[in-house]
Amino acid sequence: TGFSQGFDAQAVELPGWRHAYSGKVRDLYEPADAAPGETETLLVVASDRISAYDFVLETEIPDKGAVLTQLSLWWFEQLQVPHHVVSLDVPEAVAGRAMVCQRLDMYEVECIARGYLTGSGLAEYRESGSVTGIELPAGLVDGSKLDPAIFTPSAKAKVGEHDENITFGQMAGLIGREPAERLRELTLDVYTRAEAIARERGIILADTKVEFGQDATGRIVLGDEVLTPDSSRFWDAAQYEPGRAQPSFDKQFVRDWLTGPDSGWDRHSGEAPPALPADVVAKTRARYIEAYETLTGRTFTP
Ligand code: ATP
Ligand code: MG
Repeated sequence: TGFSQGFDAQAVELPGWRHAYSGKVRDLYEPADAAPGETETLLVVASDRISAYDFVLETEIPDKGAVLTQLSLWWFEQLQVPHHVVSLDVPEAVAGRAMVCQRLDMYEVECIARGYLTGSGLAEYRESGSVTGIELPAGLVDGSKLDPAIFTPSAKAKVGEHDENITFGQMAGLIGREPAERLRELTLDVYTRAEAIARERGIILADTKVEFGQDATGRIVLGDEVLTPDSSRFWDAAQYEPGRAQPSFDKQFVRDWLTGPDSGWDRHSGEAPPALPADVVAKTRARYIEAYETLTGRTFTP
């Protein structure tokens, strides 16, 4: 699979690896000794970049990349789904935040499972009474539980553009009906299992996004990151109250500060947000670590 464009990130030099692509948060490298675009493995490095309101902020959150990678690895172990991680034999400079992965031919679809209604799902429901073509009962509010959880795919947007919710039929048109059915089944399975694990730890997994690809043999494999605060909405079960926006576990301080009076920033101006103050950075870092520690029961060591 070729990576045509990407976020203009300052990727580090890593011995034995050649930078291939940068997304908003992750930097991908190929083995330097193989032909570009044809390698079997990729080094997936999670940076400390953070995005909010569709902007990659200029301020980084120290250790965020390591927290996300460690959390993903923990989930990959819990879920009994074929995944892309090959080894943790990575350059010293990115130890803890990187993993060697099977290179996959990614499906150009984001697989989203929702067990609670909020965000873009809620917006669509308010317009049409349905989410990605799935009819929902009347009277639902922000945070309402959806039982059973629903699968609401979206089409991957180019850098800087919004992902767009699509119906299951549209997804089948993009990637084929059989793979679409398989991805739906796998996604709901991942969500259901993870939701139960999180619930035992006092965390509501409201929704999550996973990405799948095919390996060289055509097998469907779970890729990217899984069940991190960046790909999922985690809510504190003790504070859960449908009918209002739930405080988000991790980015709430960032969002509150950016949209509050102190930032001087207008979300709808189209301008990039300002740098984050040190206390917002520190509190956000602490929240990411808390999410990791609460879910895994482990202590985070930078
Ligand atoms: P985009 O790539 O659209 O910028 P993003 O900002 O979410 O999305 P990141 O998460 O920062 O991107 O970067 C990860 C990129 O690597 C994604 O495009 C993802 O699809 C891709 N990816 C993840 N795992 C694999 C894999 N095993 N093989 C190939 N590509 C992968
Ligand atoms: Mg991503």
